[in-house]
Amino acid sequence: MAHSHSYMKSLQLQGLNKLVKVELPIPVPGQDEVLIKTEVATICTSDLHDIKTNAFGIKYPRVMGHEGSGVVVACGSGVTDYTPGTRVAAHPVVPCRACSECERGLEHLCLHMSHLGIDRDGCFAEYFVQRADRVRPLPDNISFALGALLEPVAVCLEAISRSNDIKGKTVLVAGDGPFGNIIARLAQRAEAARVLVSGREPFRLKLIPGVEIVDAVQAKSVDIAILAVSAAEAVYTCLQALRPRGRLVIFSAVQEPVALNLFNIHVSELEVAGACNDENKIDESLQCLTEERLALENIITHQIPFDRWEEAFELARNGHNKALKVALVFD
Ligand SMILES: [Zn+2]
Ligand SMILES: [Zn+2]
Repeated sequence: MAHSHSYMKSLQLQGLNKLVKVELPIPVPGQDEVLIKTEVATICTSDLHDIKTNAFGIKYPRVMGHEGSGVVVACGSGVTDYTPGTRVAAHPVVPCRACSECERGLEHLCLHMSHLGIDRDGCFAEYFVQRADRVRPLPDNISFALGALLEPVAVCLEAISRSNDIKGKTVLVAGDGPFGNIIARLAQRAEAARVLVSGREPFRLKLIPGVEIVDAVQAKSVDIAILAVSAAEAVYTCLQALRPRGRLVIFSAVQEPVALNLFNIHVSELEVAGACNDENKIDESLQCLTEERLALENIITHQIPFDRWEEAFELARNGHNKALKVALVFD
């Protein structure tokens, strides 16, 4: 292993609100893994929540980061389909492929799931390893920055697929963050008749081409409402916006319990569905990244050198009037 004696810079979560830059040994890829030299890693809304509340139970210390792209620099002995030098993006979810959910094809709901940045070290580091089957080569026309959106776009495709048949329907997307922004574009791609988006930041809303910007409280008679904001009151707003037989898709993590009016769900035959991770959407996501109409490159509003990571996190946390998705760029 050429790299076994060298160290790398990384961002390690050591406790609540304690993200620290540390030097760690460059990881060694296991038999079925590749070692990737990170080029771009994007900051996810969930990273900000994890730093603050650790709802997913990250065991400290852990290198964070689950949206990353880079170049393969070493392969485990069992990896045959990658060679050093290949530009790639990684999906953070590693299904066990042995449990009952994996066996019935729902690998994204794996009972023993492993996940970059949660129970294995992630990509806020100069190098990271990932199981080779969760990595994809990047076509030349996909930049490293765009490639880092592989998983965010894949999980947004899951929100579309959990909406059932979106074609010809009126869809309300509640939330103008990176996910709401991507979901609104994918709803148009899926041929929704109308896409309504609600949010607080004119800057973010303006980045989405071709949608109707609405106040969610005023929205009525929509077929599908997709919750892309983690505020409990938005759940009520979404339910009120649905027409009979309408469907609410819970995409964002609402952590506090929400009291639902089941009577209304009963009489209007409403449906409530969750959407989390993605059921085999990696390759469709790669396809989306290349589609000019989706203009996904404008999701990343800031590319900041890794050494200025504190500024990047501050921008992702508090810069909603000027930033959508913030990327860390490595040299
Ligand atoms: Zn993410
Ligand atoms: Zn499994």
